[in-house]
Amino acid sequence: MRQLRPVEANSEIYSTELLDRRWLSKKTIELKLVKPPLFTFNPGQRICLIHKSVERDYSLVSAPADTDLILCIRKVHTGILSSQLSEIALGTRLRFTGPHGYFTFKPSNRPAIFVATGTGLAPFCSMVRSGITDIALLHGVSLAADLYYADFIKPAVKHYIPCLSKPNGSPEDCFNGRVTDYLQKNLPPGKYDFYLCGSRDMIHDVTVLVDERFEGSLIYTEIYY
Ligand SMILES: Cc1cc2nc3c(=O)[nH]c(=O)nc-3n(C[C@H](O)[C@H](O)[C@H](O)COP(=O)(O)OP(=O)(O)OC[C@H]3O[C@@H](n4cnc5c(N)ncnc54)[C@H](O)[C@@H]3O)c2cc1C
Repeated sequence: MRQLRPVEANSEIYSTELLDRRWLSKKTIELKLVKPPLFTFNPGQRICLIHKSVERDYSLVSAPADTDLILCIRKVHTGILSSQLSEIALGTRLRFTGPHGYFTFKPSNRPAIFVATGTGLAPFCSMVRSGITDIALLHGVSLAADLYYADFIKPAVKHYIPCLSKPNGSPEDCFNGRVTDYLQKNLPPGKYDFYLCGSRDMIHDVTVLVDERFEGSLIYTEIYY
């Protein structure tokens, strides 16, 4: 089992409370937590949630201006904390440190391509909620039922491209295939800023593709697992 990491010298421990939980799909929950009055963050950053002696990183879905803190968490099969978070009672007290990380938007004159797999969508939600919308956002999931947050993202951003790896009578506006397939087949040659968040495999595959086809592009990454 992973040990509790020593808290960074300048990282405060905040106390919070579970206000609400809803299921976004069969395996994904959204948690709403009390935002401590002195806690601030930038869109794209994460917190390290602590429950009993277990701590795990979670990106913030909410925007800095929102009243509460929102997390989007996949319930991992046999996963210690994600399983507990899917069951603990509303009102449970939790602790967290943060904000952590540098996965924030860096404006440039290159088009921004956001690529997420699964709950890797979380930091992009915070950015979109904060007004960063002149982007193309690819969300790679298995099934259309996993396309949570599409309702608010689709009308907000310039291009929203849902990619289904296990299409099964998928809606017309979905791409049938992985995010890498979409980029390979549809993204015109050029220089871009790629923001990649989610599984190590996706980040590896997109990085290889960018090196091969989109020379001069920049890549920012946040690896979840
Ligand atoms: C920077 C960072 C930000 C993160 N942000 C989020 C977030 O916003 N939402 C979120 O759901 N997770 C996020 N994670 C993953 C999260 O920290 C935990 O690893 C995850 O919740 C599993 O914890 P657990 O205690 O339930 O599982 P553990 O008991 O720690 O078991 C871990 C196992 O689950 C696998 N695993 C971890 N995450 C996933 C996943 N999403 N899908 C499939 N397998 C997985 C690991 O490879 C490992 O085999 C983030 C991770 C990092 C490093």
